[in-house]
Amino acid sequence: MEDSDRANAALRHVPKVDALALHSDLAEARRALGESRLVVLARDVAAEVRREVLAGGVAPSIDACAERVNDRVRVLLQQRIRRVINATGVVLHTNLGRAPLSRDAVAATLSAARGYEALEVSLAGGKRGGRGAFAERALALLTGAEAALVVNNNAAAVLLALAGLGRGRGVVVSRGELVEIGGGFRVPDVMASSGARLIEVGTTNRTRIADYERALDEHEDADILLRVHPGNFRQTGFVESAERRELARLAVARGKLFIEDLGGGALIDLEAYAGLAGEPVARECIREGAMLVCFSADKVLGGPQAGAIVGRGTLVEKLRRDPLARALRLGPLPMAALEATLASYLAGDFEAIPVLAMLRTPVASVHARVVRWCAALARAGVPAEAVEVDGRVGGGTFADHPLASVAAELRVASAAEFTERLRTGEPAVLPRIHEGRVLLDGRTVLPCEDDELCDAVVRAYRT
Ligand SMILES: *Cc1c(COP(=O)(O)O)cnc(C)c1O
Repeated sequence: MEDSDRANAALRHVPKVDALALHSDLAEARRALGESRLVVLARDVAAEVRREVLAGGVAPSIDACAERVNDRVRVLLQQRIRRVINATGVVLHTNLGRAPLSRDAVAATLSAARGYEALEVSLAGGKRGGRGAFAERALALLTGAEAALVVNNNAAAVLLALAGLGRGRGVVVSRGELVEIGGGFRVPDVMASSGARLIEVGTTNRTRIADYERALDEHEDADILLRVHPGNFRQTGFVESAERRELARLAVARGKLFIEDLGGGALIDLEAYAGLAGEPVARECIREGAMLVCFSADKVLGGPQAGAIVGRGTLVEKLRRDPLARALRLGPLPMAALEATLASYLAGDFEAIPVLAMLRTPVASVHARVVRWCAALARAGVPAEAVEVDGRVGGGTFADHPLASVAAELRVASAAEFTERLRTGEPAVLPRIHEGRVLLDGRTVLPCEDDELCDAVVRAYRT
C-alpha cells in the first residue's frame, strides 16, 4: 500500500467534528461555552489529530479526543482570575494583583458594582459633577497639594503628565533614573509615546545639579525636569544624584517645570510607621518643591490599581482637559475602592489598610501565627517547622530591603510537584520556593485565611 493510501485509511478513523462536539463527556463544557464555541475547540482537536495521523501516528478514539477537548476547556476556564492565598512573603506582588483591599474598600466596590451610583452627578444640587471629586480632594488634603487628578495607574499618570505638558518639548532626566519598572514600563519608552523628547544628563551612577543646568543651557526646547524614584533597585558606592530641593530651585529660577515620578505613593512616613526607610512620602515631595508628583495607588498606598497626579492647580487642570485624560480615566469600581482607602487615611485608620498592617506586623506575631499553623499541620500528619526568612515588600518598592519574616517550611519529597498541587488547588496557594524548600510565609497570608491555608496544604499532601 502507498504511504498516501495508508494515511487516507488512517484519516478515516479521525472523529468527525460534529460527532465529537456532541460527545456525552462534553455536556458540562457545552453548558459553559455554548454549542458553537465548543465546535471551534472540537475542530482544533480534530485538526491536531489529523496532523498526528499524517505524521505516522494512530488516530485516538473519540473518547480520547473528547478528553482532549475537555483539557482545552479546562485550560481556558483556568485563565479566569482566581483567588490565591499569597504565602510568598512578597506584600505587593504585581502578578497577584498587588495590594489586597481593605474591608471598607471591598464593601464600597461591591455596592458600586451592584447598582447604579452617583459617579458624575452631585446629589445635593442635582448637577453634573466630576468623576472622582472626593478622591481628588482627599489626595490633595493628604499630600498638601493644591489639586489632584486620578487616572488608571501610575504609568498612565506619568504618560499623561509628560504628554500634556511636554509634548513636542524636551524633558531632562538623569541617566541613573532611566529605569525599567517591569511589565514593559521603561522611562525612555514612555517618554517616546508621550511625544516628549528625552534629554539624558549625567552618568549611570552620578548626576549633579550642574548637569541639569547645562542641559537647560544647551537645549532650547528643554521645559521639564523629571525625577524618577528608582524603587526596584539600589545603587551603592560612588553614586550621587541631585537633591529634590536643588531641582525645584533650578526649575523656578529658569521658569521650567519640575515633575517627580514617585512610583509607590507613600502617604505616610513608613519609617516611623513600620520601620521601613527609603520610600519618599508624597507630602514631602510637594513641600520640597515638586510641582507635580505621580504615584501608584496600589503599591505602598495599599489601594486598588489607580494612578495619582498631585500638585499645582493650573498644571493639574491642564492635564484634566487633555484628550488623553479621558482615555486614561479610572473605572467606577476601582474609584469606589480608592475613595474608601483614602477615607481610612483621612480618619488616620491605617491598620484598616491590609498592606500597611502587613508591613507593620512584628516578627514575633508572624512567628506565633506560623507556629500555630505548624501545630495544626502536624496534627494532620504534615511535617512542618517554623523558620526565619527574609520577605520582600515588592511592587518595585524598597529594593533589596528585606522584610524579616517567618515561614512554615514543609517537608515534602518533591518541592516542584508539591507546589504544583498547591498552585492548582482550590483555593490556589502560592508558596515561596527557596533552594528547593517549600516555605509558607506568614506575613502575607490574610488573617482570615489560616484554616483555608492549612486545609489546602493537607489536601495537597494527601493527594
Ligand atoms: C511602579 C512604577 C510605575 C508604574 O506604576 P503602575 O501603577 O504600575 O502603572 C512608574 N514609575 C515608577 C518609578 C514605578 O515604581
